[in-house]
Amino acid sequence: MGAENKNINYERINKYADTIISRLYERYEVRNNEEIIVFLNRVEERKNGKNFSLAEHVRGMLFSFLSSQTKWEDKSRKISEGAIDFLSSDGSSGFNIIPNVELISKMPAVDLMRKFRKAKCGNKQIYIQMHALKDNIDTFMRWERDHKSVDGFFEKKIGGFISPDPKKVVEIVKILADSDNEDKLWAMGIPLVCEYLRNVGVDLPKPDRHILRIFSVDRLGFLNKQFIEKGENNSIRLESDVFEVFDILNEKTKKTRVDIDVLFWDYCADKEDTSKAICTKQPNCKQCIISEFCEY
Ligand code: SF4
Repeated sequence: MGAENKNINYERINKYADTIISRLYERYEVRNNEEIIVFLNRVEERKNGKNFSLAEHVRGMLFSFLSSQTKWEDKSRKISEGAIDFLSSDGSSGFNIIPNVELISKMPAVDLMRKFRKAKCGNKQIYIQMHALKDNIDTFMRWERDHKSVDGFFEKKIGGFISPDPKKVVEIVKILADSDNEDKLWAMGIPLVCEYLRNVGVDLPKPDRHILRIFSVDRLGFLNKQFIEKGENNSIRLESDVFEVFDILNEKTKKTRVDIDVLFWDYCADKEDTSKAICTKQPNCKQCIISEFCEY
């Protein structure tokens, strides 16, 4: 490991992380969720050498868009029941849909938006996202031309998928989320880029507000920084620190970053059944099973 990062509280991680993660595993209801099983499997498939097609990359991006600005539980159920199967190229369905890339490329963004809204799978950003999806497919196609496949682009950037260099993975995440770069993916900041890459089997955490909040100095204290809800200090730096925390957790527990992230995400997410929501913005600390490790 390189020089110590002053934003990370290594002592607290070393002292508490194992117990916290074991406890969260014991209550891991989310493991029964079809969608979670699908994307944990994608990480396994990637590890076992599967290559992901252009359509699978488009699906990964589409799902990351649909997951934003929304309570995901309800939408996840609708997708699983076939709400977006109108995009299927071959009868595939739900989370395993293989989308028709040509259809998406040709259909005006406004028509795509209407279809998603009709399927009750839209969000506030859906029009912008549909525009971006089409632009980003053009970028995927350029990568295909230059590197033989979208996977080929990533293999070159991160040194292969089997044991990628974690620093290079973080670097490419920043490039894809960076508006000054020609490889920028539109309408995607760091969390959505991570979500997309996870959907094509890359073992990454998603450093969104749930994770930043629970790791902050005011809660579990894995980070020596506060989380400010409106994002004033939630800079790329803070997100980079989260990647480093996950590298340590991965090393300690030998569980994938995605697996660990899902544990914390499930613990922090808003739920339709509010009695099941625990470490949310207004936390339900009375039901917390890791409260003795928390500074809240
Ligand atoms: S004690 Fe409260 S704030 Fe701390 S981890 Fe538990 S639910 Fe979250």
